[in-house]
Amino acid sequence: MGAPALSTRTPLAPSFVEELRGIFGNRLHLGEAMRAQHGGSETHFATALPDAVVFAHSTEEVVALVKACTSANVPIVPFGAGTSVEGNTTPVRGGVSVDLSEMDKILTINPDDFDCTVQAGVRREELNSALRDKGLFFPIDPGANATIGGMASTRASGTNAVRYGTMREAILSLRVVTPDGRDIRTARRARKSAAGYDLTRLMIGSEGTLGIITEVTLRLHGIPEQISSAVCSFATMAGAVDTVVQAIQLGIPLARVEILDDVQMKAVNQYSKLDYPELTTLFFEFHGSEHAVKEQIATVGDLARDNGGGEFRWSNLAEERARLWKARHQAFYAATAMRKGAIGWPTDVCVPIGRLAACINETKRDLEKASFPAPILGHVGDGNFHVIFVIDPNSSAEHKEAEALNERLVQRALDMDGTCTGEHGIGLGKQDWLVRELGEDGVALMRTIKSALDPKNLFNPGKIFAD
Ligand SMILES: Cc1cc2nc3c(=O)[nH]c(=O)nc-3n(C[C@H](O)[C@H](O)[C@H](O)COP(=O)(O)OP(=O)(O)OC[C@H]3O[C@@H](n4cnc5c(N)ncnc54)[C@H](O)[C@@H]3O)c2cc1C
Repeated sequence: MGAPALSTRTPLAPSFVEELRGIFGNRLHLGEAMRAQHGGSETHFATALPDAVVFAHSTEEVVALVKACTSANVPIVPFGAGTSVEGNTTPVRGGVSVDLSEMDKILTINPDDFDCTVQAGVRREELNSALRDKGLFFPIDPGANATIGGMASTRASGTNAVRYGTMREAILSLRVVTPDGRDIRTARRARKSAAGYDLTRLMIGSEGTLGIITEVTLRLHGIPEQISSAVCSFATMAGAVDTVVQAIQLGIPLARVEILDDVQMKAVNQYSKLDYPELTTLFFEFHGSEHAVKEQIATVGDLARDNGGGEFRWSNLAEERARLWKARHQAFYAATAMRKGAIGWPTDVCVPIGRLAACINETKRDLEKASFPAPILGHVGDGNFHVIFVIDPNSSAEHKEAEALNERLVQRALDMDGTCTGEHGIGLGKQDWLVRELGEDGVALMRTIKSALDPKNLFNPGKIFAD
């Protein structure tokens, strides 16, 4: 459910398959198991198998693939780690799924310039392991151990975005293979540039519909002198949200601030064997000098108390921090584990920070009537939050109910001048909402860009807008 019906399609021509075998050798896969791994999704979208899967090892191979697919009119769907949640990688028109996860080399690290260049298949956790002994880190953290290419393509963000921004801010330059088979660099390594159209930003968030990213140059940050975490629970959702909004309005440079409602905290306690109060809870992280972090903690602790918060438990210990963020990162799996056999349908919206309290409070009231668990969690410092509908995959009534709740949630966010997705992208799930958000004319301009770059509509067809 959720995905459009599959078009009937013709099998790949034997000559085309032989051409792929010539490029990829035994890294071409036609078997059902590998195709199924590249046709499913972690969430509620129907599976649609690609006709073939190839594992690319170089930009040159990707160029050869694009040329072969273009002349044979075969769709190409880029695949990173497959952790996206809006059906973004599902090959609804079949074709070739090009898996970039084996393009996993860190090409250069320039500590003096605070940047690095990596192949698209490098995963964020491996990158951070390689950066650690240089005193550097890459802050974008979508929870899942996603690839840098996939994160660029969904304009991902996550827990650190309140302080360090999203992939939009993190990327200096991309190497991209375009639908006409060109191998381009979108920019150099300079921190800013006014050189013509911003091709880097055009590609970021394009979900594989405009180009295949093979290399990414990223901004890095120094590991802060002091990192402290804190947890505080609140009797009311409003108290928690007001604490965050007031901290931001006071200019406190929060590095992370995450909200988990009472339903999500219950799930986290059960799943991660923890004993936090089962109330709406804020997870914080503070970065800076020892003195600055102490001051931030004192101010936020006071705000929390004034807004009805309970004990403000903070810690400098790395183990305590790791425990906290592990529990947070497992929140999706904790939510789905609340019901045997259930699946999680995650949705995300983002609103201007001043409207966040109203948006979350109205949403919470709406969700209280749901016939299944629907926890709220999110990166509240950005005005971005998620709901996970924990539904029975075989119940069309629950699908319909989730759709209606999602509809009201997204409409509420748009009415507040927010967006239908803060970070998950459009994929298959938010296509109607894109039109409601930007209007027919805004989406028509996107279609013009798409058809100028990909006139045969072969790059991840059926995503962002229906074809
Ligand atoms: C438990 C969980 C928590 C999550 N939390 C967050 C979160 O906090 N914030 C957030 O932003 N996301 C979150 N996500 C979603 C997901 O991790 C992100 O969307 C991530 O950016 C996807 O990266 P990936 O490597 O898995 O890409 P994939 O899922 O493989 O691909 C994503 C999209 O990018 C395209 N693509 C992939 N690689 C390339 C490439 N090299 N060139 C061109 N196009 C490409 C694909 O075709 C697809 O359209 C979460 C997911 C899970 C499962």
